[in-house]
Amino acid sequence: MTSVPNFKLNNGVGIPAIGLGVFQTPPADTTAAVQEALRVGYRHIDTAAAYGNEREVGEGIRMSGVPREHIFIETKIWINDYGFDETLHGFEKSAKKLGVEQIDLLILHQALPSAFDKTLAAYRALEKLLADGKVRAIGVSNFMPEHIKSLLAKTDVVPAVNQIELHPYFQQATLQKLHRKHGILTQAWSPIGGITFYRGSGKSSLEDATIVAIAQAHGKSAAQVMLRWGLQHGRSVIPKSVKPDRIAENFDVFNFELTSKELAAIDGLETGTRGGPEPDFITLDNFSRVIPEA
Ligand code: NDP
Repeated sequence: MTSVPNFKLNNGVGIPAIGLGVFQTPPADTTAAVQEALRVGYRHIDTAAAYGNEREVGEGIRMSGVPREHIFIETKIWINDYGFDETLHGFEKSAKKLGVEQIDLLILHQALPSAFDKTLAAYRALEKLLADGKVRAIGVSNFMPEHIKSLLAKTDVVPAVNQIELHPYFQQATLQKLHRKHGILTQAWSPIGGITFYRGSGKSSLEDATIVAIAQAHGKSAAQVMLRWGLQHGRSVIPKSVKPDRIAENFDVFNFELTSKELAAIDGLETGTRGGPEPDFITLDNFSRVIPEA
């Protein structure tokens, strides 16, 4: 079985370079998807309180037979649980649902630009959880450059990761540069461009002529090429699938190498168009979701 290479987070903790994402994975399918991923060699699962499947992620991990300490569990605090005490409680809810004492990487799912003090209080709770050994690393998601800068100015621990929309059509180069400057690992969501096709609008990156040609040259799929592109650029990638053949396909990316010309050709596919919600428009009014107790 292929063993996954690790990236090192800015606090020295290792994170497997590729993980299984479970956004939109129905709870009923989650346990099997997680078990299958662990069976083929994944050692990292990315979930979130807001995905409603943390319990099933925990079950998949326990049923896999892979020792807990060999698995990297990442989850996210939703905006309804921002605030210092609320976020500490958010950790308790997630840990209980996952059935673990410690979470490997706990991140804030979004910035709340219109209530940034609440976002800061939530992050300070993450810092406390880190100091108390309840989590091994902390970070953020969907933070834009101005959110990162404000966070760095007002808190103590540099986030280990920022998980952001990142695929060939939307690469956020300025944000990635800021990450590099501060030692923040860029973690790509929709790394095979899911957001470009699962909403049924726009052009799918899986069918992109440049990517398909590179894939054919290597005898690989378009999805594998996009994942390889992310990995060779030093990014953590977390592709989602509920299908065993695709779960295996997405993990089979450690036996080929893209040339610098191929990497540059994919870099050149940037469109400047975001697929997901505009991070500055996230508010408690339009994205409210109460996270149930464990
Ligand atoms: P992905 O780029 O991982 O694409 C997932 C989609 O591609 C699904 O529709 C899946 O369908 C399909 N698919 C998977 N593998 C293949 C393949 N080899 N060939 C063809 N189609 C394939 O998109 P996601 O948006 O799901 O991103 C991945 C993860 O990132 C999420 O699951 C989540 O963990 C995280 N995320 C975080 C966000 C955030 O705000 N922080 C936002 C969005 C995602 P099927 O399951 O049927 O195979």
